[in-house]
Amino acid sequence: MALERTFSIIKPDATRRNLTGKINAKFEEAGLRIIAQKRIQMTKAQAGTFYAVHAERPFYDELCTFMSSAPVVVQVLEGEGAIAKNREIMGATNPADAAPGTIRAEFAESVGENSVHGSDAPETAAEEIAYFFAGLELVG
Ligand code: UDP
Ligand code: MG
Repeated sequence: MALERTFSIIKPDATRRNLTGKINAKFEEAGLRIIAQKRIQMTKAQAGTFYAVHAERPFYDELCTFMSSAPVVVQVLEGEGAIAKNREIMGATNPADAAPGTIRAEFAESVGENSVHGSDAPETAAEEIAYFFAGLELVG
C-alpha cells in the first residue's frame, strides 16, 4: 500500500464538546500522522464551497450553517492507505450504522452533526487539502 495523505475536519459538534484530543488520539493510535493542523472558523460561504458537491442535496443549507457555527480543526493525515484508513476510523456517516469503536459510534450526535469529515478518494483528498493548506504548511 502506498503512503497517502488525506484531509480531515473535526467538526463544530466535537470542538464544542472538547473532543479534539480524544479524536486525534484515535488517528494517531491507528498509525496516521497529523502533518498539518489548524483551528479556524469558516464562513457559511466557505463551507458552501467546500461542500459544493452536495449543493443539490436537501441537507446542504443545514450542513453549511452547522459547519460555520463554531470553530473546526482542519488537518492533513499521512500514512499507508490513509484515505481508506481514515474512513474506517471515522465510521459510517450515520452514527446509528457506525461500527463499535469508531469515532462516529463513540462521539457523533446525529447523521448531520457527526464529529468528523474525511476525504473519500485521492482526487478529493488533493482538492480538499489544497483548499485549506499551502504546500509549505505540509511538513510530513
Ligand atoms: N449529511 C447530513 N444528512 C445526510 C447525509 C449527510 O446532514 O443525510 C451531512 C453529514 O454531516 C455528512 C456530510 O453531510 O458527514 C457529507 O455527507 P457525505 O455523504 O459525504 O458523508 P461523509 O463522507 O461525511 O461520511
Ligand atoms: Mg463525503
